[in-house]
Amino acid sequence: MSSGVAWAGTLAERGAAALLPTYARYPVELVAGSGCRLRDSHGRSYLDLVAGIAVNVLGHGHPAIVEAIRQAADGLLHVSNLYWTEPMVRLAERLTRAAGMERAFFCNSGAEAVESCLKLARKARPGRRRILCFERSFHGRTLGALSTTAQPWYQESFLPLLPGVEALPFGDFEAAARAIDEDVALVLVEPIQGEGGMRPAPPGWLRLLRERCDAVGALLAFDEVQSGVGRTGSFFAYQADGVLPDAVASAKALAGGLPMGVLLARGAAATAFQPGDHASTFGGGPFVAAVAHAVLDVILRDGFLDQVRRKGARLRAGIERLVATRPLVAEVRGRGLMLGLRLAAPRASELVDILRDGGALTCPAGADVVRFVPPLTITLEELDEALEILARALDTLAAREPPA
Ligand code: PLP
Repeated sequence: MSSGVAWAGTLAERGAAALLPTYARYPVELVAGSGCRLRDSHGRSYLDLVAGIAVNVLGHGHPAIVEAIRQAADGLLHVSNLYWTEPMVRLAERLTRAAGMERAFFCNSGAEAVESCLKLARKARPGRRRILCFERSFHGRTLGALSTTAQPWYQESFLPLLPGVEALPFGDFEAAARAIDEDVALVLVEPIQGEGGMRPAPPGWLRLLRERCDAVGALLAFDEVQSGVGRTGSFFAYQADGVLPDAVASAKALAGGLPMGVLLARGAAATAFQPGDHASTFGGGPFVAAVAHAVLDVILRDGFLDQVRRKGARLRAGIERLVATRPLVAEVRGRGLMLGLRLAAPRASELVDILRDGGALTCPAGADVVRFVPPLTITLEELDEALEILARALDTLAAREPPA
C-alpha cells in the first residue's frame, strides 16, 4: 500500500516520479477550458493556438460535443467489433464520402492508422519489398510507423526498424520519379508535413507521385493525421491539390478530443484485408463514433470550411506583416489554420516560452518553426489578439541574447 507521503510535492514532481519520462512537459497545469481559452491552476488564462496539437478542432466545451457526449453516455459505450453498431457504420459512410474513399478501418490514434496502412500495403501488394517515405516525415512512434518517420533522432535508439523502408527528399520530383518502381508497395506522404516544419508539398508533386504509383502499381497513401478534418480549409488537404490517394490515415481531430483514428481506402486497397487480417478492440466504438458525428456535423456544415480559409488567410497575412517588420521572422508556411512561422534562427522553443508567458499556447515544429494550429472555431478577434501577443513576443525574443 502506498502512503500519502508518496504523493507529496508539486504536480510536476509527482508526475516526474510516477510517469515514464517520455515527455518534456511545460511547467503548466491546465485545469479548465472554454472555446479557445484554457485556464491553469493559478487562474491564468491562455489563448489556445495549439488545440492539443491539432486535436480540439471545435475548441473546448463546444456545445455540440458536450451534448453528443451527454446523449452517448446513455447509450452503449463499447461492445467490440464482434458486432455491428450503427454510429460506426454511418461514420464510415460519412467519412468515406467526404474523402472520396470507399471503406474505413477504425482505430484509436494516428500511429495505429499508419500501422494499418503499412499492413494493408503488404497485403495488397504481396512480394513487393520497398516502402517509400520522405525526409522529415512524421508518421508516429510505434515500430512500424516509426520506421517511416524519417527523422534520425526519433529512430536512432530503436534500431533495427522495418526493413525495406527508404526516405526520399520531400518535394523532390526527380528523386521520386527515379525511386518509384515495380518493387514499391507503398508511397506514404504527408501532403503538408507537420512535425517536420509545416511544409506543404510543392505544387504538382503529389500529382507526380500519383502518376508514378499508377505507372508501377504501387499504393499511394496520404497521412492526414494532422492536416485532416478541415484544418487546412478543405476536409482533407489533398482535396485542394486535386490528387486522390489509394488510402488516407486520419486521427487527431476526428472525435474533437477523444481518441479515434481511421484508415480510409478505395479500389484494390479497400478489399485487400480479410477477416482476421487486422483489428482493434476499441476501434469505432459507439461512444466515440457518436462524438465524431457531432464534429462532422459542424465541420461539414455549409460555409464552415470557407471560414477556416478566411481565418487562415487573416493569420497568414498578420504573420506576413511580421516577416516584413521583424528580421527574426523568415517566412510563414502551411495552409488554412495549419501554419508555421519560421524563424531566421533555431529559437522556436524560446519563442514558444515567451508566447506562453504572454498568454498564448503554441508549440514548435522543429528547431526554427513555431506552429499555429488553433481550434477552427477561433474568432477573428482572437486571431488579432494572437497576432498582438506574437508581435510583442518577437520583440522580447529579439531583445534577448541568442543562446550560446
Ligand atoms: N502522423 C502525423 C502526420 C502526425 O502529425 C502524428 C502526430 O503528431 C501522427 C501520425 C501520430 O499520431 P498519434 O500521436 O495519434 O499516434
